Amino acid sequence: MNYHVLTLFPEMITNGVNTSITGRAIDKKLINLNAINIRDFSGNKHGQVDDYPYGGGAGMLMQPGPVYRSYESVVEKIGYKPRVIYLTPQGETFNQSMAEDFAKEKDLVFLCGHYEGIDERVLEMIVTDNVSIGDYVLTGGELPAMVMIDTISRLIPGVLNNNVSAEFESFNDNLLEYPQYTRPDTFMDKKVPPILLSGDHAKVDKWRREQSIIRTIKRRPDLMEKANLTKEDIKFIEK
Ligand code: SAM
Repeated sequence: MNYHVLTLFPEMITNGVNTSITGRAIDKKLINLNAINIRDFSGNKHGQVDDYPYGGGAGMLMQPGPVYRSYESVVEKIGYKPRVIYLTPQGETFNQSMAEDFAKEKDLVFLCGHYEGIDERVLEMIVTDNVSIGDYVLTGGELPAMVMIDTISRLIPGVLNNNVSAEFESFNDNLLEYPQYTRPDTFMDKKVPPILLSGDHAKVDKWRREQSIIRTIKRRPDLMEKANLTKEDIKFIEK
């Protein structure tokens, strides 16, 4: 997977993504990060990339030219028009199934806005996907781009040491993950559920599935409508 991030703050992206699991994935060449400074495409000696909005209003807007030219540099490099994700609070809210869909691509372009956003014309010309990370407004698209890169990367084979850990976790089957415990088996009088020490894998699996269901009903009842439930799950819920 090749990530091309169009941003005014490339160091924020490279410092963030070059850390921990995604950093190791870059070292192993499982993912490739190309943080492109939009300012390098300003076309003027002052490096100006923003201007006042037509019609008045607060703040500055990123101009279309530098954004378009930075995008063109990616198209020229890879030889085709890839999906371009504009991080915006006005987009579809990011979720795990969107991450699974994006993980199938060979190249992804992330366009990070700053200030009051970006001139609408260039967005109409290049953006294929408008994505938000939630109903709140951040100062820029860099953190949202990193959230997406992190989520997508862990779906790429080999990025997580143990592929099983991506298989059984929250949002698989649209259920939240069951509670997890590690040593010691007693912590300040609180004991690990005895079934987890039983060594009976079938019973542990059944308990975990039931805990996932209980937790999802309690914490995220909205997910239950979309949950992939088996006949046994339904029997358990009806009990
Ligand atoms: N004026 C814009 C509006 O009201 O929709 C908000 C601009 S925001 C201050 C600056 C940039 O931060 C946006 O262009 C976008 O790239 C990014 N951004 C802010 N909140 C975001 C969110 N919830 N999800 C994704 N990107 C966001």
